[in-house]
Amino acid sequence: MARNPQYDPLFQPLKIGPKTTKNRFFQVPHASGMTNAAPHVRAAFRGMKAEGGWGVVCTGAASVDPSSDDSPFPCATIWDDADIRAHALMTDAVHAHGALAGIELWHGGAAAVNRTSRIAPLSPSGVPWMPTHVGFMSAQRPKIMDAGDIRALIQWHADAAIRAEQAGFDILYVYAGMGYLPYQFLLPDYNHRTDAYGGSVRNRVRLVAELLDAVREATHGRCAVALRMSMQELRARPSEVAESEAHEVVGLLKDAPDLFDVKMDYSAYDCAPSRFAAEGSHEPVINFMKSVTDKPVVGVGRFTSPDTMAGMIRRGVLDLIGGARPSIADPFLPQKIDEGREDDIRECIGCNMCIASWHDGVWVRCTQNPTAGEEWRRNWHPEIVTRDRAGQVLIVGGGPAGLEAALTAARRGFDVALAEARDDFGGRLLFESALPGLRAWMRVAEYRLGQLRKLHNVSLYPASPMTGADVRDFGADHVIVATGARWTTRLCGANELPVPGLDAPRILTPDDLAKGQVPEGPVAVFDFDNYYLGTAIAEHLATLGLQTTYITTGGAAGAWGIMTNEQPGMHQALERLGVALRTSEIVTGFDGATIDLAHVFSGAVRQIAARSLVIVGQRAGGSALYDSLAGGGDDRMSLSLTGDARAPGALVHVVYQAHETARSLDLAPSNAKLRRDGPVPLTEPVT
Ligand code: ADP
Ligand code: SF4
Repeated sequence: MARNPQYDPLFQPLKIGPKTTKNRFFQVPHASGMTNAAPHVRAAFRGMKAEGGWGVVCTGAASVDPSSDDSPFPCATIWDDADIRAHALMTDAVHAHGALAGIELWHGGAAAVNRTSRIAPLSPSGVPWMPTHVGFMSAQRPKIMDAGDIRALIQWHADAAIRAEQAGFDILYVYAGMGYLPYQFLLPDYNHRTDAYGGSVRNRVRLVAELLDAVREATHGRCAVALRMSMQELRARPSEVAESEAHEVVGLLKDAPDLFDVKMDYSAYDCAPSRFAAEGSHEPVINFMKSVTDKPVVGVGRFTSPDTMAGMIRRGVLDLIGGARPSIADPFLPQKIDEGREDDIRECIGCNMCIASWHDGVWVRCTQNPTAGEEWRRNWHPEIVTRDRAGQVLIVGGGPAGLEAALTAARRGFDVALAEARDDFGGRLLFESALPGLRAWMRVAEYRLGQLRKLHNVSLYPASPMTGADVRDFGADHVIVATGARWTTRLCGANELPVPGLDAPRILTPDDLAKGQVPEGPVAVFDFDNYYLGTAIAEHLATLGLQTTYITTGGAAGAWGIMTNEQPGMHQALERLGVALRTSEIVTGFDGATIDLAHVFSGAVRQIAARSLVIVGQRAGGSALYDSLAGGGDDRMSLSLTGDARAPGALVHVVYQAHETARSLDLAPSNAKLRRDGPVPLTEPVT
């Protein structure tokens, strides 16, 4: 199909200093959890985006010196020759598809805790970065940089730039954002200096200008130089000579870099979950850039709609469409737009499991794209699945797992029949995506259904509850059971052990709400799942007008949501809706009128009034259907259990499991062997 001419602006080449990008799709630097210890994994992950049409593909942060050490968070380095060879694998993979490769040179300053290098963190004035935030809590207080430290910082960037060019990078970043060292110089809260680097805006900008010059001179103008800056705090600050300090800073630097890459200040707003921020949410903060500088500007906003992207360029907000999450969810997004296949885009759902992977210290995982991070280790391609099989597969259950298994099995060449008991496909998502803020999560089902409907070797059977006899009568060669899990009414005991539920009226689970039951108010939601669902249900019930209390075993609402950047939004939503919040408590009793609570640490006992109790606690997997078939002794048919039925989990786990089930169907176990990556060896002997 031909490209929609409306999207032509996205495919115009653009000069970025001495380099030219072939189009406007720019994979901005983003964390992947892939350090130099896994250089082939990283190269394949980034190279896949170049294959999918991104004009520029960047690394995540690459430390310029051991005084910027983010451990235990995964962080790349560009400290020595072994690092050059490790990065060169990635630039080769990117260049192989005609894309430019960028590297984000990074010094974290006071926001780099240096747990491994044990060097005192550096800072303009000794002000710690978020000192009671869990990620920074154990830090020693930062050292105030003297003139020698500033000279050294500039030299580290220059040296790193030389190595980066040797590694084959085209675009070299100076990173003045997200609390990292050059950004701390820009903000008067962190910069109290009285020398040439502190005081006036002109002085605070000096370090960034010198870093840009040093990087440019080190590579003699052969590489493009980009400046990545956070804008939220600066934009909120009045300036005597411009509309805000952000305008003033950009005005002073307007000719210094070849490219501006603009973003927010805090991860929860920069990489905001779709639950609380729409596509393009950065625009009000960064929309002034083109009025101050003539240099190209790239920015992000979880852009998945080509109309929004083209509009950004047409309206003069951005020159290049930055993508981090959309490029993870669909590395082939540019190619699909180019070929007029917008319907095939696997749109990011904004769940932030990818950023949670980084917080977990592991390679990136993606809910929508189960192949992310597995391009090299498992040789999984997000678009190409080898047609290596014939035969028939019956999949029972049309939730996220069944849909993913069906799609992957069909792409492998199997004839696929997908039977779902309900009238609609989508499983748990039918309920969950109807909760406040979770509409975009339905894309997990919609994308797969859309693809399945285009395939000739797929038959979809809604309204088809299957019994063991039905399955055997169907006579497929392979059966995949993906019948999901059930929420239980079990409570939370000592050491988080499940304890038997209570015998009381009006105790409900999410499954009961999904079936349409509405609790009587006042209602309490007891959450010891501690991810998104408990707070989303509390929001939902409050929106129905019920007086709602949210009780959690955690110290904060949806405590694990700190990993997905949902925590601030969850608290704001509960507050806005008047939901009473009770933390660090367990429910010990309920009689239909009063709930007994105990504090998880002190044991202190409290009571609150409620007519109904919704328990968002644990799910039970397993499948009676699977058990009956497994016990049937029919060895002409292979049988697999997948998704929540096999092991209840987040969507990311369920989709991955199902993908793996379908990929390995009818193959010997040795085919599933994982390749092991390792660091590029040092050339100099370790003394
Ligand atoms: P998962 O996340 O593993 O996909 P879900 O609970 O979202 O699990 O989806 C499971 C789906 O399986 C539900 O839509 C449910 O209606 C369907 N299902 C369960 N048992 C049967 C059955 N015996 N026959 C057909 N569909 C079933
Ligand atoms: Fe988007 Fe979720 Fe995938 Fe991240 S994990 S890229 S937010 S779909």
